[in-house]
Amino acid sequence: MPHSLRSVIPRARRARAALLASAASVCLIAAGVPSPPEPLGIGDRLFPTLGNPGYDVRSYDLSFVYPGSNSKPLAAVTSIRALVTEPLKRINLDFAHGTVQSVDVNGAPATFTSAGEDLVITPNTPLPKGSALRITVRHTSDPVAEKGRDGGWVRTEDGLVMANQADAAHLVFPCNDHPSDKAMFTFHVTTPEGYTAVANGVPVRTERAGGETTWTYRTEHPMATELAQVSIGRTVVLHRRGPHGLPIRDVVPAEDQALLEPWLEKTADQIAWMEKKVGPYPFETYGMLIARAQTGFELETQTLSLFEKELFTASSYPKWYVESIALHELSHQWFGDSVSPRTWSDLWLNEGHATWYEALYAEETAHHSMEQRMKAAYALSDRWRALGGPPAEPKEPEAGQKISLFRPNVYDGAALVLYALRQEIGTAAFEHLERAWVAVHRDRTATTADFERLASTVAGRDLSAFFQGWLHGQKTPPMPGHPDWASGPAEAPAGARQVG
Ligand SMILES: [Zn+2]
Repeated sequence: MPHSLRSVIPRARRARAALLASAASVCLIAAGVPSPPEPLGIGDRLFPTLGNPGYDVRSYDLSFVYPGSNSKPLAAVTSIRALVTEPLKRINLDFAHGTVQSVDVNGAPATFTSAGEDLVITPNTPLPKGSALRITVRHTSDPVAEKGRDGGWVRTEDGLVMANQADAAHLVFPCNDHPSDKAMFTFHVTTPEGYTAVANGVPVRTERAGGETTWTYRTEHPMATELAQVSIGRTVVLHRRGPHGLPIRDVVPAEDQALLEPWLEKTADQIAWMEKKVGPYPFETYGMLIARAQTGFELETQTLSLFEKELFTASSYPKWYVESIALHELSHQWFGDSVSPRTWSDLWLNEGHATWYEALYAEETAHHSMEQRMKAAYALSDRWRALGGPPAEPKEPEAGQKISLFRPNVYDGAALVLYALRQEIGTAAFEHLERAWVAVHRDRTATTADFERLASTVAGRDLSAFFQGWLHGQKTPPMPGHPDWASGPAEAPAGARQVG
């Protein structure tokens, strides 16, 4: 899927590396000594060393053994099946937090070393283009975060969950950690007595032996690494049915089941509401994972969205608001998960749409006016663009704070773009576009340019000037139909909660 990106970037990187090394490396080349291992990336503007060139992962098979303590590393085995897309003497994986014990490539032991946040593997023989690649890494997976580095495993009061967006899956397991390389996933999680493990996808089997249980789950659709989820905890799994018999399974702390039930029972109706807006739910199952942890965000992990328990128990959040946040994460299953961003600059496609449906749901079910919300967003939009960049060209995250990419310019600032688009092309064409978008790109990755093209096709006219201003401009264009709306310097609303 990501060939166009990969075929361009690695060449550019090689050229740059060659340039930097040109003076010093002459004697090394003369002596036939290979260049030292270096961290590679696929050229994402916002995360230059995420992902790796030269292969396309088809599947991950991940095994974790939880020791019953959140302060000890999990023993882990990561097996990757991939297709080699250009001749490789070395294989770079992203992996930055854990100890690697051994690496096998196509069944034979391989040497390995670390370079930056990459695990650099040298197989016995170079790998030709088009060949199948099987990598097995035995390693630890450490739930204790490095200082100043968020994401990966999140330690809860009763176990662990994952929050890998945007660049933290490789703190948990070796991978090609970029959403442009989606793959199938199988998880095997071994826990001591009293714990339950749940992962993305559907259960395959549960094996009990010697006081331990191994839980196996498998996805039925490709998934980006940032959307992987493994919950280990003293939890219960609650089963119910959604539209067309869709299996819904929620994972909640056993003690909180009764408290959370009123929120959980709304999911089926919310799925039906989304299906009416954009079409069939894209995956094999859905559910809410509610964790006893202080995350400060929710996260749309595929088929099993992560929520912080406090969202449902803090008295400061009104009921309509909590429901709209649940809807926000649900809508990401279409926008962000099934159709995932090709690069992180396409993040507005995730968050703009999720915010759009969050606001639309609040309007239709709780009478919170979309127009008023968008008028307020319009007033702040210039400020958001100055702070975070235009919606489709976000500024880089601050150093050491990768999550700071998630600024208002890609949430309400991007929902505002969709509002402007609906004003511009009319409600019927806009709704047609939304349904077409998730149908055409289902289970794939897509770019901002893809969205612009499809919108022009559906509208029957060239919208590139419209999108140039709304998605790429430093200033917010006039709102179609609302010439009186003004954007200018203003204070951001206080107490706004971050939504994943
Ligand atoms: Zn979101």
